[in-house]
Amino acid sequence: MNQPTPSSPQRLPARKRARLINERLKPLYPEFEGLNYANRFQLLIAVILSAQCTDARVNRVTPALFARFPTPADIATCDIHELERLIQSTGYYKTKAKNIRAACNEIVHRFGGEVPGTLEELVTLPGVGRKTANVVLGLGFDTPRITVDTHVGRLSRRLGLTRHRNPLKVEQALAAIVPQEEWLHFSNRLIMHGRKVCSARKPRCEQCPLADLCPKIGVTNTATSRHKRKTTTTPRPPESE
Ligand code: SF4
Repeated sequence: MNQPTPSSPQRLPARKRARLINERLKPLYPEFEGLNYANRFQLLIAVILSAQCTDARVNRVTPALFARFPTPADIATCDIHELERLIQSTGYYKTKAKNIRAACNEIVHRFGGEVPGTLEELVTLPGVGRKTANVVLGLGFDTPRITVDTHVGRLSRRLGLTRHRNPLKVEQALAAIVPQEEWLHFSNRLIMHGRKVCSARKPRCEQCPLADLCPKIGVTNTATSRHKRKTTTTPRPPESE
């Protein structure tokens, strides 16, 4: 691998690299391939279900779920065991079912049956943390938000846009260098790039269109650090705020 020189693109200020990264990813990922939903209620439930689960699996579960329970009121009063059965394959289904039913109860009784549209209100719902709220606000309310999931955090660090591991700090760092109108698109493009090219285990740097911009921070240590983490940590459950 060539060492970066003082004039290498890797040495450009983070704001400029973020702009170039966004421009290069834009034609590669014109559409965000993620969760399927028809309204804000379905979006919220799908995002809660996506914790520790792929979007593809959630998309296989939600048609039957929303056919059986079309509104928040239907879930708020449902039999918890039936709900658990419907979402079982998404993992952590007992916690998710409990949170989803409690969140729907809140939506019905505190918000008139509508998903609330502010971060402050959303994070009061069971199972909804800042990441979930940002996704709902960004996709459901067209509010500029940066969503920091595992892909956005990892790529932001590898690309040298931030050193932080705390999602809120990553969000703040990206917000400072990415124009507000691009917040949602930028994080969606990083998610897509993380899924397709810059995976946690095997980043395909030789095929990556960002290679000349990327200091690849942490890439060579990824396998080792993952092995170490495996021996010391367990998977994190869904958000339980
Ligand atoms: S695949 Fe490699 S070059 Fe591309 S963003 Fe990831 S670490 Fe950087």
